[in-house]
Formats: sequence, structure tokens, C-alpha cells
Amino acid sequence: MTKSRPNRMERKEFRDLTSVEDARKLVEQIRVQPDTIILPIDKAVGHIIADDIPSGVDVPAFNRSVKDGYAIRAKDTYQASEPEPQELRFIGSIPAGCTDKFFVNDGETIEISTGAPIPDGADAVVMVENTKQTGDSVLIYQPVHIGENIMRAGTDIMKGERILRKNTRIGAREIGVLASIGMNEVPVKRLLVGIISTGNELIKPGETLEAGMIYDANSYAIAAAIEECGGTAWIYGIVPDDATSMEEALDRAINECNIVLTSGSTSAGVGDIMYMIIEEKGETLTHGIAIKPGKPVVIGMIGNVPTIGLPGNPTSALSIFNEFVAPIIYNSLGVKPSFKTKVTAVMGTGIRSGGREELFPVGVVRGKAYPADKTSGAITTLSDADGIIEIRAHTEYVEAGSEVEVTMFGNVRSPDLMFVGGQCPGVDLLEEMTGLVFRTLKMGSSAGFTAISGGTTDIACVNMVDSEGNYNSSVITKMNLEDVVLVKGYRREQGLIFSPDNHVYGLKDISGLHLINRNRGSGTRALLDRELGILAENMGIPRSELIKSLKGYNSGSKTHRSVCDAVKSRKADVGFGLRAAAEEAGLEFIPVAEDEFDFVIRKDLLDIEEIQTFLSALRSEDFSKRLPTGMYTYEMTGSIISSF
Ligand code: AMP
Ligand code: MG
Repeated sequence: MTKSRPNRMERKEFRDLTSVEDARKLVEQIRVQPDTIILPIDKAVGHIIADDIPSGVDVPAFNRSVKDGYAIRAKDTYQASEPEPQELRFIGSIPAGCTDKFFVNDGETIEISTGAPIPDGADAVVMVENTKQTGDSVLIYQPVHIGENIMRAGTDIMKGERILRKNTRIGAREIGVLASIGMNEVPVKRLLVGIISTGNELIKPGETLEAGMIYDANSYAIAAAIEECGGTAWIYGIVPDDATSMEEALDRAINECNIVLTSGSTSAGVGDIMYMIIEEKGETLTHGIAIKPGKPVVIGMIGNVPTIGLPGNPTSALSIFNEFVAPIIYNSLGVKPSFKTKVTAVMGTGIRSGGREELFPVGVVRGKAYPADKTSGAITTLSDADGIIEIRAHTEYVEAGSEVEVTMFGNVRSPDLMFVGGQCPGVDLLEEMTGLVFRTLKMGSSAGFTAISGGTTDIACVNMVDSEGNYNSSVITKMNLEDVVLVKGYRREQGLIFSPDNHVYGLKDISGLHLINRNRGSGTRALLDRELGILAENMGIPRSELIKSLKGYNSGSKTHRSVCDAVKSRKADVGFGLRAAAEEAGLEFIPVAEDEFDFVIRKDLLDIEEIQTFLSALRSEDFSKRLPTGMYTYEMTGSIISSF
């Protein structure tokens, strides 16, 4: 019997949100029955073994020698010693893999290789080092006892012995064990988890990005998370934001999968659609969890298929997956996470919370957690975050230095050093040269200074010029930054970037042209401002007037590369930025100034290994040589300034 679908008017209002704790208890109860499939062993890595595996054979299958030497009867060696060796008669050789029959009698010996079968009659092997063969006789210089240097059949694995346990995750070791008992297939659990991404704005990665569209990240991120848990992901693709399409996709997925997930459209009401479909065909367990981000989570059961609606924002979707879906997969498969999903960290800075239960994305660098929520909804937060912390509803402020538990986003390697500030290919080069993992938040020099002053980064990358033309030190003075040093970096040619068909010969020619500017707070923008000031003075006009003549002055491109993109696609006539970026984009470049790209580093970190590695790379000759065109080290490179 089907229940009737509630219409919009009479639909229940879900004002009472389920608490995180109750929602956790709820998912702890949910188990689904996975299927068993047989996989060839070379395709089985990461899967979960479905049954105990007994060995069908003895390993080794025969008594074999573990040394190169001579098979003998042990009693023939008991009198042997260095000064008085025992002489035995040489009767043949047995290489590994030899299947011929041999027999050793009293006073006889057979040469034998490691891994070769022990001949009948022999009960020990003398190592070749303790023997000497001349013609038909072999001298034995040391006694051996019965069984010495012999591995007996079945010592490794006995026929019938359970060699792998049900619910073991298959890795290299397990595959080795299976192969060594001759199994080329293995029964594994298959838990099919379907994922449907909803949103009119979504397109598949690999397709051309049209205006207003974004790439579907969730299908793939969630699928990978499913596989990391040991499940099998089934990607249903993108479904537009309409009830009929969603219902069709859901129907199909529920028929085919053990668990079904959807992502997105929570604002457009997928929560409602999901809830309605679940109500109609099954049972809603919760509709809305008191948590941020990702409040409109729906968890229900259709028949025996748990059906869960995740939020669209990729960071939220992964957070909610970790909290409420991963446990269902693990419990159903009967396994524990294969890697550490929770790590303890110390807050590197305080964070304010909204007085509501929150899942807060953080980056974890050397055991310190930093907030990674630049703006919620930015896909960049997903790459800048390593995991989430849970902030309780009654907590208004999480203090710097307090211990937190971070649920990691899968098996991530957290970065070694954190950088905030200006963007530069030189930093990418340093990352490559040090072999460390850098987390670089490219938010401009001003953000770098703010972060280093707030203790939320190890290093600020800065190129901020003052009115006198000094770089960075005056900002440190002005901001009263203590406990930091300024490490001088390198010089970079900055100038005008334009297409060959624009007649630009210098800064004076750009008035009337359409400029693509950098974001406010970027050092490169500050440098352009300074140069425009000098030009205006030479022209005898106020700077504001010169700026007014520049269309696009108020634009704010975030990276050197995006400036080049704007010029290349003719959205702008001219940009201001690095020679290196212009050349890479195949655009014209006229140098205007040279800036100084420096690093502000926390004093207390100067001695740690990662910073030392960073500094020696910066000071190396190799770095000078490999810097992109238009960037130069100089006599100050790598020097540390500590008084301002
Ligand atoms: P929604 O929950 O549909 O309102 O989506 C919230 C935000 O996440 C919007 O900015 C969406 O464009 C974005 N979003 C939704 N689905 C996806 C997806 N599959 N991949 C990446 N971003 C998404
Ligand atoms: Mg949407």
C-alpha cells in the first residue's frame, strides 16, 4: 500500500531539528546487507573480504632448504670440526624447482640450492660456507643438528588453516598471501552506494565551462569517499533541479543500490522533494539536523535502502558524508576505518561560533588547526581544508591553544608549512625543491600580514610597497608586529601586460584603455598605485584624475594568471603583473618596476626543520637558476631582518 503524498499546504513544518548526537545514534542503528562478489586478486585491493579464507595447500608444499649448501644425515657431521673436517661422498646436485628423486645414504651428500626440495634420506643441510668440495668429496667443517636449515612442509601455512579473516581490508600483504596459496580470486563484499548530483548549474568535469556553470565536484568527491570506506560508488551523474527528474533518478538508484545519496538543491527544496519521496515510499528518519554547514540533511529508509540528501556545497557535503554516511558504510561492511580519520590538533587561532552546533572546516598544519572557511560555498575551501571540527551548540568561542578533534577528509596528508599572502610561481618552485607540502592561501599581501599577526599562518608572502618605495618592513612597523622576522626573498619584474595589437609603450599610454586590476590588498595593485602616483605627479595632475581615466581600475582579479586570461580573452586591453605570467600566456610585456617578494616568518618557528629546509632552498644556487624569467635573487636573498 502506498501512502499519499502530502501536498505543499498540509506538509509538516520541521522546525525541530534533530541534534547531532541523536542523528549519530540514529545512523549507528542503520545496517545494510552487502552482496558478495568474486574478484580476481589483481582487482581486489581496497575491498573487504567476505568470508574466512582457509588455505587449500601447505606452504611450503614440501620440505625445502633455506640455505645453499649440502644435504646430509646430521649424524655424519657430529664429529666435524675446523681442524678435523668430516669427509663425505658427493653424489649430485639439486637446483630449485628440481623434481628428480634423490636419496642420501650414510656418508653421502648432495649439493642443494635455497628453495630446493630436501632429498629423501637427508635430515639437515650444512651451509656452503662450512664446506669445501674437491672432486668427489666434500669436507664438512661444522656439525649440524637434525632439521637444521630445513623448512618443513606447512611451516608457513598449514592446509586447512584460516589464513585471512572475514572483514579484512585487502592490501598488498593480503594479495601476497592469497597468491602464495594459489588463489587467483577472492570473495569480497560489495556495498553499492549511488550518488546523484542535482543542480541546473552543474556540468561534468572535462566539458567546456559555459557562463554561470560550475563543475560537478560532489559526484566525484563523494564517490572517492565511498571507495575510501570500502564501498562501491555508482555515479548517476547530474540531474536538473526538477521534481520529476529527481524522482526518476532516485527510483532507479533505489532499485539498483544498497545506499542512495543525493547532493545539492537544498535551497531549491530537494530536502522537501527527498522527504516527500521518502514519505511516500518509505520512512523519514530525520529531516534537518541542527548543524552548520549543511542543515537540510534528510535521512530516510526506502524499503531497506538508506536514502540521504546531502547539501550541495562540496565542503558541507563531505563533512556530512563523514559524519552520517561513512558510519553506515563501515558498520554495514563490518570494518573500521583503514586510516586515522580523527586526529587531535591544537587550535592555532581562536574561532567564533554562531552558538549553533557547527561542523567547521579546518586546515591542519603540523598539529595545529586553522579555520579554512574563507567564504562558505567556495570550492577552494575544499582544497584548503583537511578536515572538520565539531563545535558544540553552547560554545561561542573556541580559544587558540585549545585541543580539538579533527575528522579528516579521507586519507589526507596534511601540509608541512602554511603560507598566506601574495601569489608567486617562485613559491611553487620552492615547494617543489623542498619536497615539502605547502598550503598556500593566495589572498594578497594584506591578508598575509593579517594572518601572520593573528597567528593563523607560518609564513606571510608579501610584496607591499610604501610611498618611499620600501618593501614590507614599514608595514611590519606600522602593524606593530612583534615576534616575526622578515626574510628577504627575490626581485620580480612587474609591468604592463597586453596583446601585440595594442600600442602600449609605457604606463603613460594606458589612459583611456580598459585595465584589468588586481584585487585590493594585493601588493601588485599597491605597486601599480604607486607608479600611477609618480606618473600623475610628472603629468602635473592629481592621481585621482589619472585613475578616473582608467576603465576597469576598480576590477580585482585574484591572480597574475587571471589577469593574463582577461587580456587574452579581450575582456581587458591591459593588465599589470609579472613578466613570468605574461610570457607564459604568450602576451607582450613592458617592465615598469621591480618589486621585492619577501617572507614574514614567525620567530618561534625559525629553528624548526621545515623552515630551515625552506630557507636553504631559498638561498640555494639551484633556486636562483630555476626562477622563472623576470625574477632574480640578489645579495639580500635569504637574509633575515629582525629589527624594524
Ligand atoms: P545547493 O545546495 O544546491 O543550494 O548548492 C549550494 C552550493 O553548492 C551552490 O553554490 C551550488 O552551486 C554548489 N553545488 C551544488 N552541487 C554541487 C556539486 N555537485 N559540485 C560542486 N558544487 C555544487
Ligand atoms: Mg542547487
